[in-house]
Amino acid sequence: MVKQTIQIFARVKPTSRKQPQGIYSVDEDEKSVAALEIILPRDLAEGFVNNKRESYKFKFQRIFDQESKQEDIFDIIAKPVAESVLSGYNGTIFAYGQTGSGKTFTITGGAERYSDRGIIPRTLSYIFEQLQKDSRKMYTTHISYLEIYNECGYDLLDPRHEASSLEDLPKVTILEDPDQNIHLKNLSLQQATTEEEALNLLFLGDTNRMIAETPMNQASTRSHCIFTVHISSKEPGSAIVRHAKLHLVDLAGSERVAKTGVGGQLLTEAKYINLSLHYLEQVIIALAEKHRSHIPYRNSMMTNVLRDSLGGNCMTTMIATLSLEKRNIDESISTCRFAQRVALIKNEAVLNEEIDPRLTIIRLKKEIQELKDELAIVTGEQRTEELTQVELDKLEEQIRSFLEDQDPESRLEVGSDMRKIHHCFHYLKKLLSERKIPEKSEPSPEIKDQDGEVPLKEEEFKKLRDILKQRDNEINILVNMLKKEKKKVQDMFNQQNTSRGGTRQSLSASPLSGGLDDSSKVSISSTSKLIRDGNSLDYRSAFHRRKTGKKEEMSLGRQEAFEIFKQDHADSITIEDNKQILRQRFSEAKALGESINEVRSKIGHLKEEINQRQMQRVALSITDNAVGDQELDPVEEKLRSKMEEEKKSYKKMFTHLKGLKVEIEHLQLLMEKAKVKLKKEFEVWWIEEAINLQKKSLPANSLRTPESRHQQQSQSHLANKSELISRKIMPSPPPPSRNQRSRCSNSSVEESDLISKKNPPPSPLPSRSFENKFNNPNVEESDLTPRSKVPSPPPPSRNQTYPPDSLYLEERVLGSPSPSIPFTGDSQTDNDILAFLKARQSLLQKKGLANN
Ligand code: ADP
Ligand code: MG
Repeated sequence: MVKQTIQIFARVKPTSRKQPQGIYSVDEDEKSVAALEIILPRDLAEGFVNNKRESYKFKFQRIFDQESKQEDIFDIIAKPVAESVLSGYNGTIFAYGQTGSGKTFTITGGAERYSDRGIIPRTLSYIFEQLQKDSRKMYTTHISYLEIYNECGYDLLDPRHEASSLEDLPKVTILEDPDQNIHLKNLSLQQATTEEEALNLLFLGDTNRMIAETPMNQASTRSHCIFTVHISSKEPGSAIVRHAKLHLVDLAGSERVAKTGVGGQLLTEAKYINLSLHYLEQVIIALAEKHRSHIPYRNSMMTNVLRDSLGGNCMTTMIATLSLEKRNIDESISTCRFAQRVALIKNEAVLNEEIDPRLTIIRLKKEIQELKDELAIVTGEQRTEELTQVELDKLEEQIRSFLEDQDPESRLEVGSDMRKIHHCFHYLKKLLSERKIPEKSEPSPEIKDQDGEVPLKEEEFKKLRDILKQRDNEINILVNMLKKEKKKVQDMFNQQNTSRGGTRQSLSASPLSGGLDDSSKVSISSTSKLIRDGNSLDYRSAFHRRKTGKKEEMSLGRQEAFEIFKQDHADSITIEDNKQILRQRFSEAKALGESINEVRSKIGHLKEEINQRQMQRVALSITDNAVGDQELDPVEEKLRSKMEEEKKSYKKMFTHLKGLKVEIEHLQLLMEKAKVKLKKEFEVWWIEEAINLQKKSLPANSLRTPESRHQQQSQSHLANKSELISRKIMPSPPPPSRNQRSRCSNSSVEESDLISKKNPPPSPLPSRSFENKFNNPNVEESDLTPRSKVPSPPPPSRNQTYPPDSLYLEERVLGSPSPSIPFTGDSQTDNDILAFLKARQSLLQKKGLANN
């Protein structure tokens, strides 16, 4: 048992702007304990009337200041926890802090760079590396990923996730057994046999979480996420299984609402926005108090799930994330105070050992049988019931193998059961009588069956013939090998006699070893796989397949809009950057793969040369009458040391290649996630644009809900600009999807109007109907083909302006007052559009569609 208080660490997020000096200081002089001092700025300090102090000092195991790296966080905080989990103890790491202070960055990692990966991916990498190294035990690893939002649990790895919103999924519920152990119903445990599989599950869960989030449910800041690695281990032959769980927890933002207007009570009276954090604090207060028997774990789902991590069987570590800017001072002080209380909690971690029930059953069954046998001997009582068919079959099998056994000492052990003994005699008699007649003429059964004299069963006959054939082949091969070897030795003799130089020969069948050891053989074969993987772009993770598998088709217009949207979006820069890096890594991997292949063939050649030297020496020793056999051959020694060197560089490159593979995998997942995000944001933007467009055409005094007004106000200049683009090039938007509709449910006026616009009443004006055709998404593909051939106009640059009262192109072409396509102001583009409109019009006229 390991007794330990919860370890607390602080991490300060880098500030974006230059902060006024002296908001905080880190004091690491004291041994093993660091202190963080938060100094209240003068103007703020006045607000804290009741707190006379101007600074607050908090102790932590260690404080990670702004410049600390993700790697350090892993090495110092997470690695020791991962190690204890590997040896069978439960572990928990949780991040606590206000929204934006870096909890997700610390636990999962940043979305941009490989080096930004957080505790979870690094821990997975470490754990699987260790599992691979340890061949003494058999390990199984499972992953679960739970999100708790509004006191409800959701399985982030539920396969149905993508199809539905959070609310539609079965809720994860808590069950408590009589021993007060907590079980989670509806939370799936997914097996992960490799780091790659585990990483896929992490990204899958994160993506599911992102998809389920809507602006109305800001799940990412209000929910808790618990990523759990379950490891069980067993030594071969042992019945004892060890189970350990590692929870990696990203808590909801810890910000509090202050009672406004009551100066000075700000810090003490402020309440959590998140109710379950309030219950977490209650549990922590109760645990820190001595002589407190009741701990209110049951008040919330999160404290229930983390019960072991808080004051129970677990080694627990807390990371307080701090965003130490002036406006965050009070939240930062709250976070540190919380940490100080957490540090008082004592946990007692024990090894979670359990006897494997299956093995116990087998052992007990055997024991029962032995006892029954003994009992039968002691009491002299014989059992009278018939032997079962299974028992009979087993017995006959035993007799057969006894008869086949060449060892004259071998014995037939059937115990003291007279029924068995009788059956043995009976069976032997049967066998004997079956073979009696042929045995007189021929002693060997193999020859007999060729004559067909023995009534061997068809399949038995076939089996024997196959075996015979196999043996024949083996003998042939061995004879050939022997001949070759003989010839080689003969050749060698001749060469030795004629000249001392030798030509290279293939020694593949040589029995002499001296090449790569077993481990490197294994790694070579796996290298070729690695190289294959690295080279082929269709190397795809399960995560990736899932994403692309359900890719829905976008209309041409939406695709164009999406392209333009992408160009302005920050995430697409990340995607591009990562693509660049990915390409680089791919070619690095390819080059490395080639070098590895070269080294491999070098090693092969060296091995051949060494073998040849050895053969020569053997040959020499025969001619020189066993002289020099013991002496070291300097040439061979040199070859060997050269080979060792090559092997070393081989191993080094191989490890590098493995690292590259992990990096490539991670980058691919990052990109995939960013793409999903981009797409999602585009969908939201698209709907907003559609609504906006509608509003523009509404009369000024039409009804507007407060929300819609707000939405309109919040449109950035990008949206306004894009709106112009969409007016120029886009067909009208399709109906909002299910989620989007619920989001827009407040603006029913706009929505209904939108639908009416989609299916407008037929108009007698040709140009009007023309526009309808253009805007109607139901128009057949062929009607739009001319459009798709025209290059889309370039997106206007940020400072490009439009004449507010510009002429509309259709107006000019068709002489009708259609407001759908304005001038861009760029003569080249305008001419292109004009030409396109003319072509389209004449095409439609030819088809007789213009006047429909
Ligand atoms: P939280 O999960 O606590 O709400 P995040 O982890 O999402 O906060 O961090 C908010 C933003 O700050 C993100 O854009 C994140 O990338 C960035 N960030 C947080 N911590 C760091 C850090 N240590 N270094 C660089 N960027 C960080
Ligand atoms: Mg977060």
